[in-house]
Amino acid sequence: MEHVDVLIIGAGLSGVGSACHLRTKRPGTSFAILEARDAIGGTWDLFRYPGIRSDSDMFTLGYSFEPWVGSKAMADGPSILDYIRTTARTHGIDDKVRFDRRAVSASWSTPDARWTVEVEQTDTGGREVLTCGFLWGNTGYYRYDQGYRPDFPGEEHFGGILVHPQHWPEDLEWRGKRIVVVGSGATAVTLVPALAGEAAHVTMLQRSPTYMVSRPVDDKIANWLRRHLPAPAAHAIVRWKNVLLTQFSFELSRRAPDLVKKGIRKGVTDALPEGYDVDTDFTPRYDPWDQRLCLVPDGDLFTAINDGRADLVTDTIETFTRTGIRLASGIELAADIVVTATGLALQLLGGITLDVDGTEVVPGDTVAYKGIMLCGVPNLATTFGYTNASWTLKADLTAEYVCRLLDLMDVRGTGQCTPSAPDAGEPTEPFIDFSSGYVTRSAADFPKQGATTPWRLHQNYLRDTWLLRFAKVDDAMTLSNPTPAGAVAAAQAAGTV
Ligand SMILES: Cc1cc2nc3c(=O)[nH]c(=O)nc-3n(C[C@H](O)[C@H](O)[C@H](O)COP(=O)(O)OP(=O)(O)OC[C@H]3O[C@@H](n4cnc5c(N)ncnc54)[C@H](O)[C@@H]3O)c2cc1C
Repeated sequence: MEHVDVLIIGAGLSGVGSACHLRTKRPGTSFAILEARDAIGGTWDLFRYPGIRSDSDMFTLGYSFEPWVGSKAMADGPSILDYIRTTARTHGIDDKVRFDRRAVSASWSTPDARWTVEVEQTDTGGREVLTCGFLWGNTGYYRYDQGYRPDFPGEEHFGGILVHPQHWPEDLEWRGKRIVVVGSGATAVTLVPALAGEAAHVTMLQRSPTYMVSRPVDDKIANWLRRHLPAPAAHAIVRWKNVLLTQFSFELSRRAPDLVKKGIRKGVTDALPEGYDVDTDFTPRYDPWDQRLCLVPDGDLFTAINDGRADLVTDTIETFTRTGIRLASGIELAADIVVTATGLALQLLGGITLDVDGTEVVPGDTVAYKGIMLCGVPNLATTFGYTNASWTLKADLTAEYVCRLLDLMDVRGTGQCTPSAPDAGEPTEPFIDFSSGYVTRSAADFPKQGATTPWRLHQNYLRDTWLLRFAKVDDAMTLSNPTPAGAVAAAQAAGTV
């Protein structure tokens, strides 16, 4: 049976980054990457709806080690996909990816100090088995086979086309059509202005509003620095600038929500036609950053509303009709196409089932360790990025930590690292502290977080930089199971050989 030191699951933004870190920091480590799909890129290959783009800046969504040289700070999906694939090629990672291989289960054996991973060959339906010393999930955070979509009353009567953005049909004829986009998150906010250019009309239908902030697509400081400094130096400076600005705005939102609400409201009011009902459509009932804030690049959504190409309706769907949607207020929205931008179905570890020495691991019953490992589960890491900043900031730190942990195990001559759980009395909280529906719906399937370090998720890049890059690696962790080399070294140290 084939064995590798590290088995990475997933060849998206995180899997490629993790492999690059591993290759650079631990050149002697053997590894492979399993990818369920037939392409590198994950999210940025899967999502193909018009206008697909990042909603955070590419200096922080990009890797620390690979400067973003694209012209726009908030980039379109194809440019991000190209960046990931180019990085994989440049670092010789693409050869390590085994496509059409879905990891379905992993069993840890303490006597063997290894995982046995069962793999489904998605192209042929066959099965194969691999073993590895360390398993590293880079599987993202949602199901690929289906997005989240509630059942709408009367949808079976609708005579038009219903589309979920996760599965946008390549041949969908949307130009010149009346389109209703149901949803208020980043996807709806991206889609509406992108469709508005050529659709007959676009309506964004939301049950409740989201905080929206307009940001320039071009970063003038970044562009100036890139003209005057080498790309890596400019990338590093802009990355830190954006980290600090994002962290500042998050902390300010938590400490002075009323001030931030006022600022956001002023920005929206100024961007919309005079007399627009900002209270109904743009004033959420929660505080900023209780849910993810939506960025509107160069105010494109507001421009579409100002131009009359798009409008926003805050109401509840009473029923679909043959020609559109009837709302609780009695208003009817005529539609040829309804796009259900209703979100993702969250999933941990790409649906892989786990057991440790024959005992099933139920992730929802465990506590996360440093937001990376699961207490009581040996030699397993997952890459889970920030929810209040760019994903990759945490993904990069996670990779650095995993490499440090593997280094420490080598130094100590141990084949097993098992994070300890917090004291039984320590209170726990959901892993993701957002009040959004898509998060609360899946909270029970995710591990909990503890109240104190190393079980608490700080969602704070500065703190995590210290904790993951510099602080003690094996804080509240047991290193055990001596490797043959470790056993010899221990015997020599004890004077028994
Ligand atoms: C539309 C959209 C826009 C986003 N925009 C931003 C943004 O602007 N900024 C930001 O920070 N975040 C954003 N995110 C979050 C985004 O998912 C992350 O930024 C990033 O792409 C995650 O990369 P990943 O590699 O961890 O996961 P993914 O991109 O989801 O890749 C996971 C990979 O793992 C593979 N996989 C999963 N399970 C298995 C298995 N069992 N076996 C084998 N392979 C498996 C999948 O096929 C996939 O290729 C966005 C998400 C979406 C959906």
